[in-house]
Order: sequence, then C-alpha cells, then structure tokens
Amino acid sequence: MTKTLYYATIYPMNEKIVDMYLEGKYSMADVGKAFGVSRQYVHQVLNKSKVEDRWLKYKNKDKADLAKYGEALNELMERYRNGEYINPVVQQLKIPSRIVNKFFHRTAEDILDHEVSKYARNLAPQPNGCIEWTGCYANGYPIHPVNSHDRSALKWGWFYANGEFVSVKNTCGNRRCVNIEHMEKRLVG
Ligand SMILES: [Zn+2]
Repeated sequence: MTKTLYYATIYPMNEKIVDMYLEGKYSMADVGKAFGVSRQYVHQVLNKSKVEDRWLKYKNKDKADLAKYGEALNELMERYRNGEYINPVVQQLKIPSRIVNKFFHRTAEDILDHEVSKYARNLAPQPNGCIEWTGCYANGYPIHPVNSHDRSALKWGWFYANGEFVSVKNTCGNRRCVNIEHMEKRLVG
C-alpha cells in the first residue's frame, strides 16, 4: 500500500478523532481508547490537523457568543426559574437557538425551581383558608402537568412541601383546594 493510499484509508477515522477531541470533554487518552489507538497516535493526528488553531478559534467564538448573549442567557435562566416557559422568553430576547442549545444548561435544581414557581403562580388563597387552584383542571380536578403520568396538582403540592411523592386526598370537601393543610395521604391497598 502506498503512503497516500494509506492516509486516504485512515483519513475518515482521523477526522472523527479530531471531532471528538474538539468536543472538549475528552483527554487524548480517552479519545485513543474510543478508537482503539494509542494516546501518541491521537497526539500525532491532532498535530497534523493543526488542531490547536481550530481549538483556539472555537474558544474565541464561544467568548464572542457569551459577550454578546451572556446577559440575555442570564435573564432567560432567571425567568425560567421564576416559572416562565423557555420558548417565549427566547423569542422575546432574540437569542438564536444555536446559542440556547450550546449554553443554556439546566440543572435538576433549576428545573425544580421552575416547576415550583409555575405551581405557585396558580394558587389563590381564600378567606376560608382554602387555597384554590387557578391552573388547569381535568374532570374537575386541579392538574399540574409536569409529566404525562402524574398530573394531580394535589400530589405535586404535597411533594413540593413534604418531599414525598404519594397519593393524597382532599379533606375539606372543596375540589378546587390544593392547600396541603387540607389534604392527607391516601391509604393504598
Ligand atoms: Zn380547602
């Protein structure tokens, strides 16, 4: 096999090696392991493709993006945690989806904050002590659609307050009420 032909054959794999390294999540040794080659081989490939130049270009681009959209991204996160939906805010702040995909990362805590804030927006305390639900209803029961399986607003309210995701029932007779003082655990079985 001639040298040129040899490089032509392995070229696609080398490109993939460069791409994987440029994701910035893996060491040369990690990349080597993924492709069944040595760390030294990866090093050679990266040298040949002038990867340092490309890496710098990537990093500079990130910096420029963040300088331009960093503030908007912070506002997006703040409003998301306050219970607003992502898409309308993204449109309003004119953040390109490329930027959102790249930089908007939610932790479990962010998501919980969002859901709890969204929940709190639907509470209307009444003079009689009940807290009536102003959100959606299904068959007359308050629902909080976090996921498609468990939508009971009572259940979610109990969970946010007590950290326990269990079946609960209303004890005050007001079907609109989601006051956790007006509910109790349902005995299953
Ligand atoms: Zn009540």
